[in-house]
Amino acid sequence: MQHCRICDSASLFSFQRGNIPLLRCSQCDTVQLATIPDEHELLQYYADEYELLDQSNKELTTTEIRRWSRLPEQLSLIHDIKKRKSPPAVIADIGCDRGYFLDEARRYGYTVFGIEPSNHAQKYTNAINIPVFSSLQESSLRPDIVVMWHSLEHTTNPLSTLQEIHSHLTDEGIIAIRVPDFGCVWSRLLQQHWVWFQPQNHNFHFSRTSLNFLLTKAGFHPYFVRSQRPNSFITMRSTRIAQSTFTRYTGTSLTAKEYLSPWYQFLTGIELFAIAKKI
Ligand SMILES: [Zn+2]
Repeated sequence: MQHCRICDSASLFSFQRGNIPLLRCSQCDTVQLATIPDEHELLQYYADEYELLDQSNKELTTTEIRRWSRLPEQLSLIHDIKKRKSPPAVIADIGCDRGYFLDEARRYGYTVFGIEPSNHAQKYTNAINIPVFSSLQESSLRPDIVVMWHSLEHTTNPLSTLQEIHSHLTDEGIIAIRVPDFGCVWSRLLQQHWVWFQPQNHNFHFSRTSLNFLLTKAGFHPYFVRSQRPNSFITMRSTRIAQSTFTRYTGTSLTAKEYLSPWYQFLTGIELFAIAKKI
């Protein structure tokens, strides 16, 4: 019999989104894929294949548009973190992708490093001189702050991931997490068409209840777990400016899909945001 990977309860209820079989735990409210891939296979997949952007000659432009458009979001996150722990402090970003967040955080005086299995993303972080490792153990620095921006749902065991982070954090260290809000109105309305329902990458889906439960179980005290739209009107304006600036000066044009997909995400992408303290 299958057990919940978060609370170990056997009372799991099967349901489907589209043709994807899922299990919801009646104890802690976590939703998981009925079949979670093997961890080794998954790491190989992220190292070799998983890329947030396609490999085309436009890649630098699309990467830079994405970085620019997300600046307001990064600044807002840095200010939320600064309220709890101001620099000097060490930040580790698990699933740092191309290091956009760390790149900004270091300008505020934080010492930064990332954890990222994707070889492709690591090439980018090397170029901008952000140290990236494949696990927390590899770094000689102990983080005071760990951030996970839309990466916890990709793991095969969120509880053991958070427990491992707990053991690496310095005393009174903090963790900041953002994950898709599976319980939000857009998720319920759009079902398998929701922008962040990605069963090929997301093994777990969280609600406010389950994220709160998970953090507490892993030894953290949540300051807050809230549902939010990460992309404010400022972000939308910033995307618009980035799109028109880059297409004008680099001579690159965007396809209708490339132009519209950020807007679809702004509209329907609701996430959970939590900051919690190690106890
Ligand atoms: Zn459970």
